Amino acid sequence: MSEVRGQPDLTGHWEQVRAKLKSEFGEAAYNSWLRQLALVGQRHGVVLLEVPTRFIKDWIGSHYADRLAALWRSECPLAKSVEVSVRAPRDGQAVHSVNGDDAARDVGTPLDPRFTFENFVVGKSNELAHAAARRLAESERVNFNPLFLYGGVGLGKTHLMHAIGWHLRQRKPHRKVIYLSAEKFMYLFIRALRFKDIMAFKQQFRSVDLLMVDDVQFIGGKDSTQEEFFHTFNDLVEQSRQIVISADRQPSDLEGIADRIKSRLGGGLVADIHQTDYELRLGILQAKAEQSAQKDTIPPKVLEFLAHRITTNVRELEGALNRVLAYSNLVGRPITLETTQEVLRDLLRASDRRVTIEEIQKKVAEHYNIRLNDMHSPRRARAVARPRQVAMYLAKQLTQRSLPDIGRKFGNRDHTTVMHAVKRIEALKGVDASLAEDIDLLRRMLEA
Ligand code: ADP
Ligand code: MG
Repeated sequence: MSEVRGQPDLTGHWEQVRAKLKSEFGEAAYNSWLRQLALVGQRHGVVLLEVPTRFIKDWIGSHYADRLAALWRSECPLAKSVEVSVRAPRDGQAVHSVNGDDAARDVGTPLDPRFTFENFVVGKSNELAHAAARRLAESERVNFNPLFLYGGVGLGKTHLMHAIGWHLRQRKPHRKVIYLSAEKFMYLFIRALRFKDIMAFKQQFRSVDLLMVDDVQFIGGKDSTQEEFFHTFNDLVEQSRQIVISADRQPSDLEGIADRIKSRLGGGLVADIHQTDYELRLGILQAKAEQSAQKDTIPPKVLEFLAHRITTNVRELEGALNRVLAYSNLVGRPITLETTQEVLRDLLRASDRRVTIEEIQKKVAEHYNIRLNDMHSPRRARAVARPRQVAMYLAKQLTQRSLPDIGRKFGNRDHTTVMHAVKRIEALKGVDASLAEDIDLLRRMLEA
């Protein structure tokens, strides 16, 4: 910008030129295209302007170049011609926007085309988050702001955010939507600080209709980023723009984030994505299998096996299925239970190792404040029987032990008792939210 500083008049001329462009071509055209022009300076009578993208450069070149040059010449005796170039990106990152907005293009991250509502399988564990995301994407106004989505890794938070973006883009192509990770927000902010570009940084966010920031747990402890994020957040909320946030935990559990920010983050709708259950895992596998070219070669048994055994998260589940498909495709062997077990041996062993029945009993006993002994005892009082059933249920979910095996570990009970416990807890979870939460929590602790 030294050239601009060396030419104090240039900036004044540019202001005049801009005003004329605006009145000649109208507010809309000006905002879409001409506003993107930034003055760099002049060299030997050539006025140097920059735009963020090649597309805008070409558009301006074919629609406005003549008037632009003419206005400059009439405004500034020194100007002979005008040269528009594409601003070199300051970092190596790909920069895109959800729609055609160019302020957004500077900060947003592209949406993954696979992450749509159509490709999202709904189950008990994600139905609230999904319903909220859908409502937000489909309505003019929702009465919650922000929407705060939280849950463990690989459970579909990012997928849902992208789905909102895609849907809105389809429905309202002119809405400005920005999706980015909190890390990227932080990076951009720090970069803006370094280049003394804070005004431009703020400007990028100020005009946004929907801002989605993924994984905000990453701004914990980064005080200045956090403050800036908070200001951006408040600005947008005040203008009734919509915000969607995701994190791996609920607002009040975010570490290193100021209390007033936490409470603000939790001030809209907070929707939890729980760990998947068997039905959802199977549903997801079936949907993925259905989209695969090999769909007719995948026995349902294999999908059931995977849904039983890969309980960590959806990302791992997808990964396991992809590995099986790739193996069969490359080696030319049909997909069977045996090949599946063979291909996934390391993965399955890792999940075998993950939790033992003893650990489950210990954690559940601690959680419900009963004696470890009560896991084996014949006592049937509800206060011990229910936790015991929870432990059996978790043993079934988190280990690969058979029902008789599990029964033996619970004071030599019969396998039908275990089966009954599993069914009972499954049913109760659906109607008893606090039990569902307990189980979710226990599972997280055990899998951690
Ligand atoms: P998170 O952001 O919560 O860590 P992602 O949104 O990245 O998780 O999801 C991980 C992977 O699992 C993605 O490929 C996503 O498409 C898939 N996935 C997660 N939940 C679902 C679901 N309910 N239906 C279909 N695919 C899902
Ligand atoms: Mg994510």
